[in-house]
Amino acid sequence: MNLIIFGPPGAGKGTQADFIVNKYDLFQLSTGEVLRNEIKNKTELGKEISTIISSGTLVSDDIVKKLVENFISKNKYKNRLIFDGYPRNINQARTLSQLLDKYEQKIDLVLKLSVSLTTIKKRISERLSLEKRADDSAEIAIKRFKTYEESTEPVIDYYKKLNLLKVIDGERPIDQINKEISDYIAIIEGWLCEISPYKYVFVTYTQFTMARIAGINIPPNKIVSIALTYIHGIGLHSSKLICNKLNIPVDARVNKLTEDQILKITEYINTNHKVEGDLRREISINIKRLVDLASYRGSRHKKKLPVRGQRTHSNARTRKGKAIAIAGKKLTPLKK
Ligand code: AMP
Repeated sequence: MNLIIFGPPGAGKGTQADFIVNKYDLFQLSTGEVLRNEIKNKTELGKEISTIISSGTLVSDDIVKKLVENFISKNKYKNRLIFDGYPRNINQARTLSQLLDKYEQKIDLVLKLSVSLTTIKKRISERLSLEKRADDSAEIAIKRFKTYEESTEPVIDYYKKLNLLKVIDGERPIDQINKEISDYIAIIEGWLCEISPYKYVFVTYTQFTMARIAGINIPPNKIVSIALTYIHGIGLHSSKLICNKLNIPVDARVNKLTEDQILKITEYINTNHKVEGDLRREISINIKRLVDLASYRGSRHKKKLPVRGQRTHSNARTRKGKAIAIAGKKLTPLKK
């Protein structure tokens, strides 16, 4: 199991990460700490990045990628990492997913500790009265909070689209937060059925065994061109076109797709196709317009009869669905 934890400075991310590390025997990979260690140990890389870090800007994505790959590639850390401070932008998020793919791993859960700025300010002033910490002045705290919000928002959105994100109310007592995190981890580990069988079996089934595209859970064992047709508004033709456009083999199984490919499909469908609720809404508006106009097609819609001249004397008595009897006419008997 690999996790990512997000949270503004002062949200209690450290406390929660420690809790998860101890309880589930994982390793916390804080890129900030790894980088600071490089500087402390005066390595070549350390010398290169010391000015960048002290100025507060981000180190290049390539440097961080190499550091992160050092961990992901080792057997000791396989499926045992909590990423903290990484990824910091969409490019890093995509890189992380490629790296994990390369070493046959994936992200199982993304936690976001959500805390308001007012609470952060309160916590900082309490901490200030206990220990004198140079970086904890209120203004710096506000600035760091805002930078965090702005920079991580797109990354968090990326994981939300992949349906991996859990937002946790970080304003509650620590043990309640621990409990909520444990519950989420239990779901992915597959042993939460004991706690609340129906709710969590359902959650496990829908969230972790199926890919979610355009708000629809698509079947994991089917080939992608067929699976996409489970989305209302996508037929076989469009589904094949989508695959070709995104260079995804039409016969790849959904559960073999990478997170990146699923995200690409989601984005493509969102921008190029009208599906599900939007499509249903558009169709019903069009029908309503025909009915309001009292046009021929409108009247046929009203009577639930075929609108485009199909024969209704003996067959096609209705639109799609079971045949219904129309006043004065018997249902056509089935041919023997
Ligand atoms: P942190 O302790 O996570 O706040 O990180 C301290 C500093 O390390 C940051 O200001 C960045 O310069 C650098 N750093 C940490 N993580 C990353 C990352 N994922 N990408 C780029 N730079 C990073």
